Amino acid sequence: MKLDIIFATGNGNKIREIEEIITDPGIHVRSMKQAGIAADPEESGQSFEDNALIKATAVAKNFHQNESVRLSKDIPVVIMSDDSGLCIDALNGEPGIHSARFMGHDTDYTVKMNAILEKLSDVPDEKRTARFTAAVCAVLVDENDSHIVLTRSMEGCIAHEIRGVNGFGYDPFFYLPEYGKTSAEIPPEEKNAISHRGKALRAVLSALEEHYSGY
Ligand code: IMP
Repeated sequence: MKLDIIFATGNGNKIREIEEIITDPGIHVRSMKQAGIAADPEESGQSFEDNALIKATAVAKNFHQNESVRLSKDIPVVIMSDDSGLCIDALNGEPGIHSARFMGHDTDYTVKMNAILEKLSDVPDEKRTARFTAAVCAVLVDENDSHIVLTRSMEGCIAHEIRGVNGFGYDPFFYLPEYGKTSAEIPPEEKNAISHRGKALRAVLSALEEHYSGY
């Protein structure tokens, strides 16, 4: 199968994660920067799915304005994007789609997590349930920009303290009961195997593999 995937992100970790999941040597993955496309749309949607679609559509629009970034006219191009966040039941699903923006984009995650721990200080264990959710979108630019969006989650709960150095963002206080550890205490490969983003990426990739199997 031949496919050129342009990922709508500036985040090197996301490119690495998708490269680890793809085994087919015919699938080429590039960041939008590597492809020479710029786009920074406002994430104004009301759901993870909306925001993932907003990001991929903005990159697709710029792609159509400069098709010279194509690797070859025989290789179909797919623009992929993701949007994710942490939904805490005791906070009515917050920070949710605001996870990155919560208390300010540049605020240290230790500060963000401590503020949440403070809000949850009276919440008993059984009510500390939470999930990381990711929507992954693929825009098929050679097929009238038709798109696929799939959402997956990783269930857990909010610990009482911050623990672990792996991962990023809210991982150090996201407790996985089946591991007895936070998602910052398990190795990255193990987290990718069970994570919201890993599962959603694999689901979208297998839908693409099926769709483009004739190439
Ligand atoms: P995005 O890059 O716009 O999708 O923002 C996602 C935000 O959600 C990140 O900046 C983190 O705050 C949070 N988040 C999403 N997935 C994870 C994860 O796997 N671990 C920790 N935090 C996450």
